[in-house]
Amino acid sequence: MLHEFSYLAPRERKDLLQLLKKHSSQARLLAGGTDLLCEIRLGTDRPEVLIDVKNIAEFRGIAFSEQDGLAVGAAVTCVELMEHPVVRKRFPLLAHAAGQIGSAQLRNRATIGGNLCTASPCADLGCSSLVLGARVELVSARGTRVIPMKDFFTGVKATQLKDDEAVQRVFYPVVAAGAKWGMEKLKRIKGHDLAVVSVAIARTTQWLRVGIGSCAPTPVVAADLPPNASVKAVTEAALKAIDPIDDVRASREFRLAMVQEFIAKLLPALS
Ligand SMILES: Cc1cc2nc3c(=O)[nH]c(=O)nc-3n(C[C@H](O)[C@H](O)[C@H](O)COP(=O)(O)OP(=O)(O)OC[C@H]3O[C@@H](n4cnc5c(N)ncnc54)[C@H](O)[C@@H]3O)c2cc1C
Repeated sequence: MLHEFSYLAPRERKDLLQLLKKHSSQARLLAGGTDLLCEIRLGTDRPEVLIDVKNIAEFRGIAFSEQDGLAVGAAVTCVELMEHPVVRKRFPLLAHAAGQIGSAQLRNRATIGGNLCTASPCADLGCSSLVLGARVELVSARGTRVIPMKDFFTGVKATQLKDDEAVQRVFYPVVAAGAKWGMEKLKRIKGHDLAVVSVAIARTTQWLRVGIGSCAPTPVVAADLPPNASVKAVTEAALKAIDPIDDVRASREFRLAMVQEFIAKLLPALS
């Protein structure tokens, strides 16, 4: 049984921000609902108000310019990311990572904003966006702030979001467009599943970055390395950035081994 809650679906951004201000910690933003409705059904979250973000124009759409890079609305779905021609051509790692999330039905509903705001250590758009140098736009009735994604995640299922704030867009810099890339995601089953370990690598002429999922309280990215960094150097940087735990999916030792395995496989084969 679901508990009783109000469902509000504003059509204007200013109304959304006023509703967030008014209901604050009693409210949750609803995007695809693939995380939130599970929490509500399980009784682990009992918000009084759900505020739907999907009708707000500023939260939708994907835009690219050679000056500003890629801007992705928080309510953009995984399928929209996977199918967008500019994302596929200029940010193929992002399109690929969106395609790693759940099943086809789920990807039709699940949004980038929901994936990042749930802030699971295994979020597939987490480690992939981190290596692309993403920044997150947070909006509230008080104003707008843009922060690097590496500062957005603060712990397991915890972010910098204040009660009256929403993520409006995610930005990807032009320098990351066309980056060589590779991503591996280990699951317990061949079908849809959360990552036991995931590794994403992006390389431009200026830097090489490795991002890791499910190996720390948040998705993480190692400090920038030179583009020609060796497997040994990348592995050392990755191991320094993570601190995996034993849990139902895998042991710490297995996770550490798989991160090394994936880096050795991905680095020589970046496309
Ligand atoms: C069967 C199943 C399989 C899954 N497989 C994967 C997987 O393989 N990989 C993976 O990464 N995830 C997976 N997930 C988790 C989930 O589907 C994703 O995290 C998804 O992207 C969440 O997006 P959503 O739009 O459905 O979020 P919602 O459920 O609508 O929201 C999630 C959270 O984010 C908040 N939120 C949403 N939008 C905003 C916003 N704009 N600003 C601020 N807060 C916001 C909500 O209030 C809520 O707390 C799976 C889930 C299920 C049920």
